[in-house]
Amino acid sequence: MKKTGKASGLSRREAMKIISAGSAAGLLGINSGLGHLAREKETPQWAKGLPPLKITNVKAIATAPEGSNLVVVKVETSEPGLYGLGCATFTQRAFAVIETIEKYMKDFCVGKDVDNIEDMWQSAFVSSYWRNGPVLNNAISGIDMALWDIKGKRANMPVYQLLGGKCRVAVDCYAHAGGSTPEAVAESAQRFIEQGFRHVRIQLGGYGGVGTTDKQPDFKAAGFGRESDQYMDQQKYLKTVPVLFETVRKKCGEDVELLHDIHERVEPIDAINLIKSLESYRPYFIEDPFSPENMKWFRILRNTTTVPVAMGELFNNINEFRDYMVEQLFDFIRIHISQIGGITAAMKVARLGEWFNIRTAWHGPGDVSPVGHAANAHIDLAVWNFGIQESHFWNERAQAVFQGCQTYKNGYMYINEAPGLGVDINEKEAAKYPIGTRSNWTVRKGDGTIIRP
Ligand code: MG
Repeated sequence: MKKTGKASGLSRREAMKIISAGSAAGLLGINSGLGHLAREKETPQWAKGLPPLKITNVKAIATAPEGSNLVVVKVETSEPGLYGLGCATFTQRAFAVIETIEKYMKDFCVGKDVDNIEDMWQSAFVSSYWRNGPVLNNAISGIDMALWDIKGKRANMPVYQLLGGKCRVAVDCYAHAGGSTPEAVAESAQRFIEQGFRHVRIQLGGYGGVGTTDKQPDFKAAGFGRESDQYMDQQKYLKTVPVLFETVRKKCGEDVELLHDIHERVEPIDAINLIKSLESYRPYFIEDPFSPENMKWFRILRNTTTVPVAMGELFNNINEFRDYMVEQLFDFIRIHISQIGGITAAMKVARLGEWFNIRTAWHGPGDVSPVGHAANAHIDLAVWNFGIQESHFWNERAQAVFQGCQTYKNGYMYINEAPGLGVDINEKEAAKYPIGTRSNWTVRKGDGTIIRP
């Protein structure tokens, strides 16, 4: 047996004697204290585990290097220099999340053991009694991901190793093809295909075709709402999407997988008819057909068409997934991981999906920080029922703020193999790009009625 230290200066034989004596003493109810010494002597270094560490500080770091508000949580520990980072990006209400982290979560976390991630998630989830909101969930996510990051750094392993190791070599991604005409979208899709992407999401203008019509809505002429409010022509959108699919299929062929996001912006029955009309174009999935208020329509959708559907971006509580997944009413789990409470929460839903062949498709736009994208990728690598990952290409400013951003090759996302989540932040660079309070998610019909996402 390999010699493991000389704290007690005992030979193996002497140690064995002490162990035996300790066992006998234990049987007789006598605590000699020597058994403990011998056990220390016999335990190899690699099997000793890690010393307990405490959380010493929690803070929020806000930055907007690409214009979108990003919030990252830094959890510091009693081990000098060891900290973890987690994504807490609720871009539309970033200051509310920061206040929650600084005023409540710091006090809740400091002094606790860094290793007990599940206990932290369970206790934080109910720590406000009233729960489920995106502000609290994002704050919890910041802590949760940071603790996974710390655990990986302590273990000297990337987080995916702690989740079970790799199920695949890299993360297959889809790219966003956009444009103001179907032909422009098809050209954009073709460029991504030439770069190696096997999956492309196709959108005409903004979600719901916003910005693709010159028609002046009546609400603007009447001075209703704000000038910056967006206008969506729902009927035009419904008629245009099949044309978009037809145009892209004609230009790009049958091999590429095509995705599209309805973004909940049409009437449920119109969404069902639209999805049914797309069957012959074989969509890889259609995303977010219904707003959270309309989930019961899923049963009608399922009875009408077998086009695969992705859902869940707006769910607040992981329990919202359960019934729809058990009934196999959708095919891809669409989660903004920080919005659902972090890696711990997302893993629960991902594992549930394995039982029903429902695959993951984590939300990954520019309003998920590079730390959040890393969390997406570590889970993507580790779960069997991975489906597809949304990609985002960071600009130079973002890469100066965040070191270790994911990279892409041939349509696959790669992460660096550094311990933890593998992404660090330069706080001085982050401070150059202050966040703001503006976000324009107000979309109206022609008469001014609000359209729900
Ligand atoms: Mg979506």
